[in-house]
Amino acid sequence: TSLIHAEVEESYIMIKPDGVQRGLVGEIISRFEKKGFKLKGLKLFQCPKDLAEEHYKDLSSKPFFPKLISYITSGPVVCMAWEGVGVVASARKLIGATNPLQAEPGTIRGDLAVQTGRNVVHGSDSPENGTREIALWFKEGELTEWTPVQTPWLV
Ligand code: ADP
Ligand code: MG
Repeated sequence: TSLIHAEVEESYIMIKPDGVQRGLVGEIISRFEKKGFKLKGLKLFQCPKDLAEEHYKDLSSKPFFPKLISYITSGPVVCMAWEGVGVVASARKLIGATNPLQAEPGTIRGDLAVQTGRNVVHGSDSPENGTREIALWFKEGELTEWTPVQTPWLV
C-alpha cells in the first residue's frame, strides 16, 4: 500500500473538524505546500451526514462508524485537492499512522494529534480513491487547473 508511484496523481486531503477548531489549518496546508505539491481545490465546508457516510462507506460495518460520522459532521472541514508525482502515498507518509500514538514525530498526526478518533486529517489511500473522493467533495467549477511558474529551484 505504501508503494510510491512516479506518476502524476491527485489526492483528496481533508482537515477534519478538530484541526479547524484547534487552529491548525495553516500549519497543515503548509506541510503539503512546502513539500512541493500543487493545490487544485480548497474550501471550508460543513459536511452533510449523507456525504460523510458515502465518503466512509467502506467502514460502515465498523463499530466506530456512527461516532466517525458525527465527528466528521461536527463542524466545518477544509477540503483540498492536491496534485503531484506520487502524491497519494507521499501524503500518507506526511500524515502518519491512523493512530496518532503510533505516528512518527515529524508527521502531521505524530506532531499534532493524540487520539485515533481525533486525528486531524484525512488522505486518500489510492490514486483511484483520490480521484473518486475529489469528485465526491468538489463540484464542477471548484477545481482550478494552473501551471506554477517554473523556478530552477524546484524543477
Ligand atoms: P486513515 O484515515 O488513516 O486512512 P482508516 O481509513 O482506517 O484510517 O479510518 C478512517 C478514519 O476513521 C480514521 O482516520 C479515524 O478518524 C477513524 N477511525 C479508524 N479507526 C478507528 C477506531 N478504532 N476508533 C475510532 N475511530 C477510528
Ligand atoms: Mg482511510
